[in-house]
Amino acid sequence: MKIKDILARGRPSISFEVFPSKKDVPLEPVKAAVARLARARPSFISVTYGAGGSANVNSVPLASFVQNECGTTALAHLTCIMATREKILEETAHLRAAGVENILALRGDVPPGDDPGPEVYRHAVDLVRTLSEVGGFCLGGACYPECHPACPHLEDDISFLKDKVGAGIDFLTTQMFFDNNIFYRYLYKLREHGITVPVIAGIMPVTNGRQIARICQLSGTYLPSRFKAIVDRFGDNPPAMLDAGVAYATEQIVDLFANGVNSVHLYTMNKPEVAERIMAGLTNIVA
Ligand code: FAD
Repeated sequence: MKIKDILARGRPSISFEVFPSKKDVPLEPVKAAVARLARARPSFISVTYGAGGSANVNSVPLASFVQNECGTTALAHLTCIMATREKILEETAHLRAAGVENILALRGDVPPGDDPGPEVYRHAVDLVRTLSEVGGFCLGGACYPECHPACPHLEDDISFLKDKVGAGIDFLTTQMFFDNNIFYRYLYKLREHGITVPVIAGIMPVTNGRQIARICQLSGTYLPSRFKAIVDRFGDNPPAMLDAGVAYATEQIVDLFANGVNSVHLYTMNKPEVAERIMAGLTNIVA
């Protein structure tokens, strides 16, 4: 099923994100986690795709597993920064053959120390153009309520986003955020700029407080004082941090749904127990 049709239902729904194992690392344990995640009945499951080299060999097979063996709509991420047009066409042919109808079109980042290669694709918009030419896929794109870290001004970032959407994006998924007001303000800005496609709110259930505090410092994601207090108090106690992280994410999601946002994407990080606990807390809210 195309994700734009799922979103058009206008009912609260939650999707999950998983990542494949690296080359030469068995995919079976990941598949077991994904099969368990699928039993929690997300609206779709997205599968990440590494940038460059052999980082992504298990990505399309895992997306195919989601679609065909779990019976769940798959969203295949695809990065372009180190890809050739031939590689993109090859991956889309594999996805089509596997019955995957949705692609999240991303630029990706060159891994530190790697050669970016010919840089056929400089930005995600270039990939969206190729995928629109190929046709037949429902296309998603990434967006950043707190601005992409490489872009000095949010207004410029949104203006580039507008071009990306204009090139053929059907829906957007946000980077994680921990303060819903930042997301609400961003949504208003997008609408002001004439970006009207559905925006899925990206929520990260935090189970490792210290790690996320470091990631947020690097990416510039704002940590509300309420969140910092949780990390300070429970960061060294993993079971307590899990309880607090699930409660914080659930509260964020309830607030989003209460304010008319219908779609949330959970960065589940291959952890079924976290997703199950969140879904259990929303039984009568999520369609
Ligand atoms: P773009 O849309 O190309 O934007 C990147 C930067 O370029 C921004 O600063 C933007 O303002 C700027 N820009 C855009 N167009 C222009 C232009 N024409 N001229 C000048 N500047 C421009 N990474 C992975 O490797 N694999 C994944 O599976 C993955 N999944 C993700 C899923 C989500 C929901 C999100 C939010 C991110 C994901 N990422 C993933 C990370 C993403 O690849 C990085 O954040 C990357 O730096 C930007 O990708 P993008 O598609 O947003 O790029």
